[in-house]
Amino acid sequence: NVVTRFAPSPTGQLHIGGARTAIFNWLLARQAGGRFVLRIEDTDTQRSVAAYTDGILASMTWLGLDWDGEPIYQSQRFDVYNAAIDRMVEAGTAYWCSCSPEEVDAMRETARAQGRKPKYDGRCRERGLGPGPGRVVRLKAPLTGVTLVDDLIRGPVSFDNAELDDMILRRSDNTPTYNLAVVVDDAEMGITHVVRGDDHLNNTPKQILIYKALGLALPAFGHVPMILGPDKKKLSKRHGATAVFEYSDEGILPEAMLNYLVRLGWAFGDQEIFTKQQLLDAFSIKALGASASVFDREKLLWLNQHYIKEAPLDRLAQLLAEALARRDRPGADQEYLKRFIPLLQPRSRTIVEMAEQAEMFVDDAPAMDPQAQAKFLTEEVKPHLAALAAIFQAADDFRQEPLEAAAKAWLDENGLKFKAVAQPLRVALTGRTASPGLFEMIEAMGKERVLERLGRL
Ligand code: GLU
Repeated sequence: NVVTRFAPSPTGQLHIGGARTAIFNWLLARQAGGRFVLRIEDTDTQRSVAAYTDGILASMTWLGLDWDGEPIYQSQRFDVYNAAIDRMVEAGTAYWCSCSPEEVDAMRETARAQGRKPKYDGRCRERGLGPGPGRVVRLKAPLTGVTLVDDLIRGPVSFDNAELDDMILRRSDNTPTYNLAVVVDDAEMGITHVVRGDDHLNNTPKQILIYKALGLALPAFGHVPMILGPDKKKLSKRHGATAVFEYSDEGILPEAMLNYLVRLGWAFGDQEIFTKQQLLDAFSIKALGASASVFDREKLLWLNQHYIKEAPLDRLAQLLAEALARRDRPGADQEYLKRFIPLLQPRSRTIVEMAEQAEMFVDDAPAMDPQAQAKFLTEEVKPHLAALAAIFQAADDFRQEPLEAAAKAWLDENGLKFKAVAQPLRVALTGRTASPGLFEMIEAMGKERVLERLGRL
């Protein structure tokens, strides 16, 4: 059965490239009814930070990616790695090496000077050394032939064994090296499909040699292409937000992020919108393009707008209240929010955009745009607004149709066009020149608030 994994290094927050890799692994496991497991690659104790692990797990939970069992921490498994190295030494597929780093550097220099691939020259391969201070354990790698990576995404990629080094498996301080640990873990965790970023493609032939040295069956490998910025350079901070949590803070909905990241580099006809279930049904790693994809923020916003339009009111009210709280407006009345959220749904690409517009509904005195005030709230127009306020005051039914009809009747009687009062009314109620439709907004605000705002002029 299919077992996939996601193996983040907790040296930073989950970024969208990593999230995409995690999603692919999650989809592969879940669509096969298999397992999806997590491994925290925290052997670099200098750079690994526990808070990042928490952040990565929180971002995965936000995306709806559930994992099976408890995460495995590499930092707690040095004994397991060292036992595997000992087995390799015993089996003769690895050997102790006493060459100092300076000696190895010199070998590389010589090789380079002779126009050969700079690498360790293998002088300890047959010396039969045992452990000792300053010694490392190296893999006895094949000197000829090729190592083939039969990649799920790129097809076969072959590497010349002559180009590969007798890599170090155990450093002189007794710590295992990265590629060794990854192989031991993937084998022990029963991983059937190793799907990871293509920045790891060069590690794969090395890992395959370790699998062979340990007599282990190979998993399938797939290397996911990178995500690029609009300038076709590797996506980085320069291009804007790269961490998943920044998108959630910005008010991207997780289903939009998920949909966007899967569709980035993968197509299924011309379908753009996928529910999670549709992704589970349709996704195929083999249909993933092998070339890098360009991150398109506009497309993400477009998808997000779609999901905002679809989302249930209760959920939006909750998210909007949280976003308002982050904008110094804590404790918003969610029942009130639900009255005007439908007016903002078609006008908001993110929850933050929605919160920005919601301020005109929730603030006691909405911030007044001074230019709009000078232009529209003239002495000449104020009596008209006062008259409309009186009509609203008298209204028993505060829904948009009767209010609009009553206002219209008064305008007709006084020979006024709607245009003469529409923008002044909007500015008086919201402080802005752009807002949802006037009367639907008036209904949503409710009588008390509307009269209070008009009474302030
Ligand atoms: N820890 C590696 C990374 O974050 C992943 C290695 C792997 O998936 O094999 O890039």
